[in-house]
Amino acid sequence: MKGAKLFIFAVDGADSILMSDLLSRNKLPNFKKLAQNGIYGRLIPTIPEVSPLVWTSFATGKNPGRHRIMDMLIKKPKSYSKKIGLYDRKVNEDGTTVYTKRRAAKTLWEILSEKGKKCAILHLPGTFPPDEINGVMVSGMGIPDLRETFGLTTLYTTKKTELRAVEIKMLSSSGPDRWIESEIEGPLGAKIPVFFCPSGEGVAISLKKNDSEAIRLSVGDWSEWMMANFKIPSGHIIGGVFQFKLLEAGDNLTILRTPVQPSPYDPVTPYTFPRELSAEIAENLGHYKILDRTEDDIDNDTFLEDVWDRFESKMRITRYFLEKLDWSLFLTYVHTVDNVHHVMWRYFDPEHPKYDSSLAKKYGSVIEEAYQKADKQLGEFLDILDKNITIVVLSDHGGSGIYKGVHLNTWLHREGYLKTLPAGEVEIFKGVHRVPRAKGSMPIDWKNTRAFSYGFTGIYLNIKGREPFGLIAPGREYFKIRKEIADKLVELEDPENGQRVYKKVIFREQMWSGPFVNELPDFVPLLKKGYALAREDLYGQVLVNAPIVDDFKGRWTAHHAGPYDPEDMAGIFFIKGPRVRKGETIQRIRMIDIAPTLLHLMDIQVPSDMDGNVCYEIFA
Ligand SMILES: [Zn+2]
Repeated sequence: MKGAKLFIFAVDGADSILMSDLLSRNKLPNFKKLAQNGIYGRLIPTIPEVSPLVWTSFATGKNPGRHRIMDMLIKKPKSYSKKIGLYDRKVNEDGTTVYTKRRAAKTLWEILSEKGKKCAILHLPGTFPPDEINGVMVSGMGIPDLRETFGLTTLYTTKKTELRAVEIKMLSSSGPDRWIESEIEGPLGAKIPVFFCPSGEGVAISLKKNDSEAIRLSVGDWSEWMMANFKIPSGHIIGGVFQFKLLEAGDNLTILRTPVQPSPYDPVTPYTFPRELSAEIAENLGHYKILDRTEDDIDNDTFLEDVWDRFESKMRITRYFLEKLDWSLFLTYVHTVDNVHHVMWRYFDPEHPKYDSSLAKKYGSVIEEAYQKADKQLGEFLDILDKNITIVVLSDHGGSGIYKGVHLNTWLHREGYLKTLPAGEVEIFKGVHRVPRAKGSMPIDWKNTRAFSYGFTGIYLNIKGREPFGLIAPGREYFKIRKEIADKLVELEDPENGQRVYKKVIFREQMWSGPFVNELPDFVPLLKKGYALAREDLYGQVLVNAPIVDDFKGRWTAHHAGPYDPEDMAGIFFIKGPRVRKGETIQRIRMIDIAPTLLHLMDIQVPSDMDGNVCYEIFA
């Protein structure tokens, strides 16, 4: 048979240990069927195990040193400033942002497009801005909202709240049946008014004052999608869409609003290819949440509604294109398993420090449900897809409970490698998650600092000629200090149990290769499972007085990017098709091996510059 037709179901975060356990307990009949009729194995991610990065290694068969998608947050060259690592940006004359591709390697779908094969690539992280392919692409996680973040949720409320990751707008409580005015912030500081009128157990919401046709919500209701136009300082109009949910009415009023995402009609930031496709989806299937991030500071029930809603809307779009298109490669993606790992792990793992046995009764089975939802969806695909189509199901990494956080910058400070100033501005990065300046966070004294850390990946050294105030000479001094820090860091102990926190520390050239290795951190400390980098440190804050090993703050209770040893964070890989062996397992396949293997399966020559190899083991 010539050139297999390929369907890929990407299940973000599906963990190899949990998958094997659920399979052995017969909880996932369709995954079991797939394994019996094909190959099942552990998938080894690239470092750091962050979705858009690992999916880019999947798409290109290359490591981050060659594809250049290296972290959510990266260091600007010749600077200490941070930038989002998923794309580059330019500013238009009217002040709006144009997003350009940062990825420096060809993807599976670009290679297939060149061969005249039709592709449909839906919702995969790391695919914004969309690629111009022979077929259709809908971008996934990483699409910015109109405020250029990954999605800033807003709470309008009459009561004081401590939430950190959402924007809070205080409402004056003026009593029932009176309109309260607030605002919705859009691009470049442009604002529009929004009006709320509490009445009994509900609220009326409108973008106009005293609107008799306002949307009425009872507690727990989500509104329809609303559209609004924002006039930016240049005079241009930018369209956005959003939804409300009424969380609380009566004595207190609390309303959630989703981030303002670009309107699908002539979007300011196109997120589909062709560009008009976003309007076609909206016309035929309605609006959906395009931002696809794991929400932070919202209550469990709202979080779950958001997660299941995003699953369903993605599958509606998948069915639409499966029916409509002719294709050689079709890829669809769900974020659900990873979303619930992050937030619901504490109810599922009795050993977790934040385990709560009464809430576990309600939420303890949610993680299993997410796997079952993926299984049910897989069953639908197995039913409708022709028997000659090769089916691949894979994830980008697994997941594991966070028991404690590690303040890496605090450690560097205490060991004398990082110096702080007594006072001054702390640079707060707003682009990914919202992390306010933490108590005790001090500005870095760059002129006297030798090592610092931000992003998931690792530690940068302050090098002469590379950084503005570089202190360390390249060559012998560089290697000496790198080894010194690495040797000390692996000995760092958790004072509570005397165990070492880091599994090992590796140098960048031991793990990455290619033309962009010089842009990556100088070394990468790999944490043991159970620990994760504290979020303040992830964004480069230095909490000078914090304990180095601390409680992990925030709502996330599991993670996949410590970073960890990739062998400890294995994902899943299934493949079934006419040319694939049946009923066998493989010990491991690396993410970088997937693209070469699939190209080989499609009878297309594997480009010689891919890092991965064809996995011949899977072929019949
Ligand atoms: Zn995740």
